[in-house]
Amino acid sequence: MQIGKTGVYVYYPPPTGDVCSNTVVIDGREKVIIDPGLRHLWPYLEKAIEAETRIAPADFYMALHTHSHPDHMDAGALLEDSYGVIQAMSAEEKSFLEGEGRSIFQWMGLDYPSGTVGRLLKEGPLELGDKILQIYLTPGHTPGSVCIHWPEEGILITGDLIFARSFGRVDLAGGDAKALIASIERMASLDHVETVIPGHGPSIVGRSQVEKNFRAIFELFRSSFF
Ligand SMILES: [Zn+2]
Repeated sequence: MQIGKTGVYVYYPPPTGDVCSNTVVIDGREKVIIDPGLRHLWPYLEKAIEAETRIAPADFYMALHTHSHPDHMDAGALLEDSYGVIQAMSAEEKSFLEGEGRSIFQWMGLDYPSGTVGRLLKEGPLELGDKILQIYLTPGHTPGSVCIHWPEEGILITGDLIFARSFGRVDLAGGDAKALIASIERMASLDHVETVIPGHGPSIVGRSQVEKNFRAIFELFRSSFF
């Protein structure tokens, strides 16, 4: 589904009962897929993306992982191995994945990913051909989670930092409630956010809805942790 008239598309996972992330595609000279999701669901996603955008898997330059949880990044190794797509995540998240984060694959009954992280993301601008995205380090759900902001189009992709009227869990390895709320506060203070695309569930569309959603999250956080 296209977001407005931008080159940004969001794909919700098929209703198979699997816990799998949303996937975002950014079209342009250097095409990016964000959070390609579970490996075994990739055939559905590939078909949906190709039908709407005409983008084939080999056309992607980069698979950007908001964080290293398998329901977000599992298909990344397939994209790398079969199509030469570069996998990217933050340096902090890579170290987490190679340490404590490794156990989460086991916990979900999945193999540890065979691929490599070809590009380490830093906070700041990420130049992709004709566009510049802003990467923010937003720890809390995991130590190296990132949000991706495209100010020109008013789009914020949050991974599992926030959702519609909810926030990411902090009870898994590497979770930190204090860091999470600090990251949410940072993202709430950004200008040029008209659409929030979270890692799971519906997108939040329109500036007033975005602000309302942050207010609901702060309230929920206060009632959950204090
Ligand atoms: Zn997650």
